[in-house]
Amino acid sequence: MAKAFVIDLARCAGCYNCQIACKDEHVGHNWDPYARSQPEIGQFWLKLNEETCGSTPKVKVNYTPKMCNHCAKAPCIDVCPTGAAYQREDGLVLFDPEKCSGCKKCMQACPYEGVIYFNEKANIAQKCTGCAHLLDNGVKEPRCVDACPTDALLFRDEEELRDDILGAAVLQPEDGTHPRVYYRNVPGKFIAGTVYDPESEEVVIGARIRAITGGKRYETFTDRFGDFWLNDLAVGKFDVFIEAEGYALRSFKALHTVKCINLGDIPMNKV
Ligand code: SF4
Ligand code: SF4
Repeated sequence: MAKAFVIDLARCAGCYNCQIACKDEHVGHNWDPYARSQPEIGQFWLKLNEETCGSTPKVKVNYTPKMCNHCAKAPCIDVCPTGAAYQREDGLVLFDPEKCSGCKKCMQACPYEGVIYFNEKANIAQKCTGCAHLLDNGVKEPRCVDACPTDALLFRDEEELRDDILGAAVLQPEDGTHPRVYYRNVPGKFIAGTVYDPESEEVVIGARIRAITGGKRYETFTDRFGDFWLNDLAVGKFDVFIEAEGYALRSFKALHTVKCINLGDIPMNKV
């Protein structure tokens, strides 16, 4: 039965334990027939990607652990001329270091940037093995999963994870590789700002903020600091309207949420 990873991004605290555990397991150890020792510097078979969204002071940092997706339809296997790349019955995609000729065809074929590394010294392609050497010895989970203090990472039979996988996303589904690494609670973009009265030099509390895109509407109100956050927005063009009693309407047209938007300090003029 195929195994799968489920990664809940809302639970990830950005502690890097998973990345460090992976290094600890693979640097300085040959786990033949699944992997040779990982180079000490510059390679992360599980890499914690950090994305800073917005601008000061409206900033959020999103963390996404990334590794080989152990694709059900893995193009790296299709192009490997020596049979080094293969898939086990449990779904893990592995590169046999004994058979790898160092041709790098898998690196060109894999649509996920940066998950396969090249070990110059050993002249082989390397990547996440799902800690197959541990699983063979009765260990239930890879080191990264075991090291996560918030249970953001799960690794089980895909069937067993059915409920967690429901509504989860995979990376680049358009590539048709059928990844077996699923992401839950992928954060959307935000539009944020602070609303204030320039005359009184006070923030405006309880101002109504509306965002409209296509037929969809989002609404929030400024808090006691005059701040508002419209969270988890899809990428699109939003018209934003700010209303407060006694003030003229403010509007921002076609804000494009390709990235998070901090509208900064927004003055409201009295009517
Ligand atoms: Fe192969 Fe890349 Fe898919 Fe991993 S993510 S199985 S290396 S195609
Ligand atoms: Fe996030 Fe868990 Fe990795 Fe820490 S160990 S960075 S909480 S996934």
